[in-house]
Amino acid sequence: MIVERFAPSPTGLLHLGHAYSALLACDIAKATGGRFLVRIENTDAARCKPEYETALFEDLEWLGIDWETPVLRQTDRLDSYDNALDKLIDIGLCYPCSCTRSDIKNALSAPQEGAEPAFGPDGLIYPRTCCHRSMSERTAQDAIRLDMTKAVSMLTSELSFQEIGTDPHKTITIDPQPLITDCGDIVLARKDIATTAYHMSVVIDDAYQEVTHVTRGLDLASATSIHCLLQNLLGLPTPIYRHHRLIRDENGKRLAKRDDARSIRAYREQGLTPEDIREMVGLTS
Ligand code: GLU
Repeated sequence: MIVERFAPSPTGLLHLGHAYSALLACDIAKATGGRFLVRIENTDAARCKPEYETALFEDLEWLGIDWETPVLRQTDRLDSYDNALDKLIDIGLCYPCSCTRSDIKNALSAPQEGAEPAFGPDGLIYPRTCCHRSMSERTAQDAIRLDMTKAVSMLTSELSFQEIGTDPHKTITIDPQPLITDCGDIVLARKDIATTAYHMSVVIDDAYQEVTHVTRGLDLASATSIHCLLQNLLGLPTPIYRHHRLIRDENGKRLAKRDDARSIRAYREQGLTPEDIREMVGLTS
């Protein structure tokens, strides 16, 4: 049975891009007699707000989307994330990091004045300043990073996933070397966040909820290599992925949560209907 999920972070109002992901995933689940779940990814306490959580449920209901209850909220799952993180720590793949964003910027710009520092799916590629530190030295001020070079060397099988957002569908084999050069030592737990960072909680919960199909925007496609790597290291299954086209504004810019003018809420207030929204995202029945 197909299990689809929509996993928003309540950090703003849902926009057309979210509506597209949620409607697409829900339509596929319905059409195949599968299950559709909503998961609240709310571990970033500084940015997540209860009012956005309330608003997103109202918007999803208004769109005509049905989801299973109870809804899983990531703040109820912190122990599971900690356990998974401990596994990676136990096998020697992690180190504590005290670098601030400006420490990282300074370290990256030092050798080649003027050259743009490289960005990976997780932000600036970390220059491994703290990689010599051991986990026993971790303080409350430290984040925890994955030593990507060691992680890649520990892979137990080839990394690959099924991509069904393309026509024809394809199996994507991931070359692990670019994970080292293009992603680098990603943060697994942030000092300023209750627990593990997005990449960890998302793979743990997709496995816990037995999600078979992940439907999400192409903006997250570059994170999928990281997710497959973590699934491999943690012995979790890899779902099938459908990375869908992004919904853009009239200037071709990707919609962002802070763009309230294009929020589902704003369209509702202007008197548009759920059918209008379906049409706007190209999902006419
Ligand atoms: N929580 C993520 C977001 O709101 C999406 C996670 C995912 O679909 O894998 O951007």
